[in-house]
Amino acid sequence: MIQENLTAVIARIENACRDASRNPKSVSLLAVSKTKPIEAVQSAYHLGLRHFGENYLQDALPKVANFPAPTWHFIGQIQSNKTRDIAAHFDVVHGVASEKIASRLNAHRPQTKPPLGVFLQVNLVNEASKGGVSPETLPRLIHHVLSCEHLTLLGLMGMPPASYDLTERSHFFQNLRALQQTLKTDLPQDCFTELSMGMSDDLEVAIAAGATWIRVGSALFGDRSH
Ligand SMILES: *Cc1c(COP(=O)(O)O)cnc(C)c1O
Repeated sequence: MIQENLTAVIARIENACRDASRNPKSVSLLAVSKTKPIEAVQSAYHLGLRHFGENYLQDALPKVANFPAPTWHFIGQIQSNKTRDIAAHFDVVHGVASEKIASRLNAHRPQTKPPLGVFLQVNLVNEASKGGVSPETLPRLIHHVLSCEHLTLLGLMGMPPASYDLTERSHFFQNLRALQQTLKTDLPQDCFTELSMGMSDDLEVAIAAGATWIRVGSALFGDRSH
C-alpha cells in the first residue's frame, strides 16, 4: 500500500518537475506521518524515505525515541512550553514565527547536536487564525534567527487556506517564492535557499512555483481518521 502510494507520488513529482523544467533532485519529499503508527514510518523508511514530519508533539516523541534513524521535522505550531522537547528531539522545524520562539529553540538546542534547521512560517493572507509572521515583520525575524548560534536558517514555509482552489494556491506559492527571492539578495549565499510548500493535493502547483520541500501525508499514508 505505502509502496504503491510512494510510486504514485514520485511519478507526480517527476511529472511536475518535467513540466516546470526542474531537476527532480531539487525537490525533497517530507513524509508527513502524523497520526500514523511507527510501523508505517518504518515501512516508508525501508522504501527509501529519510525525512518524516510530525505536528502533534506528544504523538511524535515516542516515535522519534523508538526510531531515531530518519531526519525528523516538526511541522506543527510551536508553543513556548514545547520548545525544549522540540529542540532536543527534532532536526528541523517548519513553523517558526516569532523571535521569542526562535530564542527559546536556540537556548534549548543541545550543544552536542548540530544547529536546528529552521523554516520561518509566513502568513500571506492576513487571517488572524493562521500561524505565521507577517511579510512586514519577516526581515527582523530573519536577522534574529541569523544571530542564533544553534539555529540554521533554511528558508520559508507557507500553507494556503484550505478553502483556496488550485489557482489561488498557485498564486500564494508564487508570492511566497517572490518574497524569498527578494529577501535572499541581502543574505549569505548558502542560507535561506529552501521553500517548504505544497501538500498531497497541491504539490504540482507548489513545484511549478519553486518548492524545494513538499510535505506529503495522505497521498503516502492514506487518509487520517481524526
Ligand atoms: C498534515 C500536514 C501536511 C500534510 O497534509 P496532506 O494533505 O495529508 O498531504 C503538510 N503540512 C502540514 C503543516 C501539515 O500539518
